[in-house]
Amino acid sequence: MDQVTAGTASIGRYGNYINGAEVPCDREMESLNPFTGKAWAIVPDGSESDIHAAVAAARRAFDSGPWGRMTATERGRLMRRLGDLVARDAEDLALMECRDNGKLYREMLGQWRYIAEFFYYFAGAADKLHGDVVPSDRRNFFIYTRHEPLGVVGAITPWNSPGLLLAMKLGPGLAAGCTFVVKPSEHTPVSTLELARRFEEAGFPAGVFNVVTGQGALGAALVRHPGIDKVAFTGATGTGKRIAASAAENLTRASLELGGKSPNIVFEDADLRVAANGAIAGIFGATGQTCMAGSRLLVQESVHDALVDQIAERAGRIRMGDPLEPETEMGPVANEPQYRKVMDYIEVARSDGAVIRCGGRGDPALAGYFVQPTVLTGVTNDMRIAREEVFGPILSVITFRDEEEAIRIANDTRFGLAAAVWTQNVHRAHRVAHRLRAGTVWINAYRVVSFAAPFGGFGESGLGRENGMDSVREFTETKSVYVELSGETRDPFMLG
Ligand code: NAD
Repeated sequence: MDQVTAGTASIGRYGNYINGAEVPCDREMESLNPFTGKAWAIVPDGSESDIHAAVAAARRAFDSGPWGRMTATERGRLMRRLGDLVARDAEDLALMECRDNGKLYREMLGQWRYIAEFFYYFAGAADKLHGDVVPSDRRNFFIYTRHEPLGVVGAITPWNSPGLLLAMKLGPGLAAGCTFVVKPSEHTPVSTLELARRFEEAGFPAGVFNVVTGQGALGAALVRHPGIDKVAFTGATGTGKRIAASAAENLTRASLELGGKSPNIVFEDADLRVAANGAIAGIFGATGQTCMAGSRLLVQESVHDALVDQIAERAGRIRMGDPLEPETEMGPVANEPQYRKVMDYIEVARSDGAVIRCGGRGDPALAGYFVQPTVLTGVTNDMRIAREEVFGPILSVITFRDEEEAIRIANDTRFGLAAAVWTQNVHRAHRVAHRLRAGTVWINAYRVVSFAAPFGGFGESGLGRENGMDSVREFTETKSVYVELSGETRDPFMLG
C-alpha cells in the first residue's frame, strides 16, 4: 500500500490487482470509515476496460497458464500457504475491514482467523475430488466421470463480511481449479485488495486471482462478460435477480447468496434466559447487518412478556461505540444510505402500528451512523417491517398460539435463509426444524456457521449452496467418458 497525504492524515492508496500486479487506475474513489465518517484509503474506481483486462488474465491463467498444469495436490499446497499468511496477518486484515465497514474488531479478527481455516479445509478437498466409474448398462463400454473445473469465476461480494463471504467462494473454487475475478463492494474494497498481496506472496501464478474495485455497474459488466463461466454472488435479493437475468443471456452459471427475513421461534417450554441471549445475538450481533439476522422473533403468547422484558433490558445495556474498543458490543451501521434506510423502516413500522419497546432512534451522542438497538412489539407478519429485509438492529416481535401457527408464520415469507427453534422438547425441536423452509436451522442456538456445513437459501434467499465438501462440485462441470472395449464396428444408425 502506498502512503499518500490527505489533509493531515496519512492514508493508503491501492491499484487494481490484475495478472499478478497492482495496476494504477485513472479514476479513484475514497473508502470511508463509518465510525469517523472520514476517508482512510484510496482505491480504484475501475472501468469496464479493467474488467476486460482482469477477465483476460484469469482466462489465460485458466486456459494456458501453469495453474492448469498443476496437480490438485500442488494447488492444495498453495492454498495452505495462503491460509498460513492469512493467519499470520489476521490482525491487520481485521483492522482494515473494521475501518471499511465499522464492524467490531473482535468479530472481524475471529472471522479472519476462521478464513485461514477455510483455506486449510478446502486445500484438503482439492485432491479428494474425483469422478466415478459408472456401472455400465452398455455392452462393451467402460464409462467414467470427471469433475473438471468450470473455468473463470466472477465473484461479487457485499460489504458486511467481505473476507468471509469471499473465502466461501475461493475455497471450493480454487480447490476445483478455477481462476477468479473479484469485484468487492464499493464500501469495503480494501481487505480484498490486501488479500491479493497474500496470493502473490503465497506463490500463486499470475492471473489466478484478480481484483477490480468500483461501483455496482462494474459488477454488472463482469456478469455479462462472455469470458466468465460462473458468477458467484452474495448480496441483496434485488441485485441477485438482475444478475440471474443477465447471466442467463450467456447461460453463465450463477450461484446466489441473497437476503433473509429469518424467524427465531421461541416456544413456551424454552429456557427463556438462553433464548433471550440468542435473540440478542441474532439481531444485534454485527449491528443486525447479516443476511441471517433473526429479524422476526416469533414468541408463544404465554411467554411474550417475560421474554420481551429480558431482551429489552439487555438491548438497553448494549454498549455502542468505537468498533476497535474491546468492550464495544455494537458499532455503527456501515454507511450513510444504510443508516437512512434503517431509520426509514422504523418510521414505516411505527405508522403501520408497531410499538417501539426500546431504541428507535439514532444516537446523537456518537459520531458515525449509530442506530439504537430497537425492539418492536405488536408486529403482525403482514406488516412491511416483517416482510422486507432491513439489514439493521431492528427486531420485530410477533406472537403465535401453537406450533402449527408458528410454522405457518415462519414460512410465510419469500425468503428462506435461516431459522431457529428454541424449545427443551427434543421431539418438537426436530419436528419443527424439518418443516421450516430455510437453508439453515439452529436448535437452541443462533448465528453459527461452519465451513463444513452447506449454507444457502430456499426461495428468494438464493440459488446453490456454499461451504461443505459438496460446494467444490458447484465449481465443476461433470463429464462422462465412454471407452469402447471390443474394437468392433457398430451399427452406425443405432443410438448406443
Ligand atoms: P448489494 O446487492 O447492493 O451489493 C453487493 C455487490 O453487488 C456489491 O459489490 C455491488 O457493487 C454489486 N452490485 C450492485 N449492483 C450490481 C449489478 N447490477 N450487477 C452486478 N453487481 C452489482 O448488497 P449489499 O448492500 O452490498 O449487501 C447487503 C445484502 O447482501 C443484504 O441483502 C444481505 O442479506 C445480503 N447478504 C447475503 C448473504 C448470504 O450469504 N446469503 C451474506 C451477506 C449479505
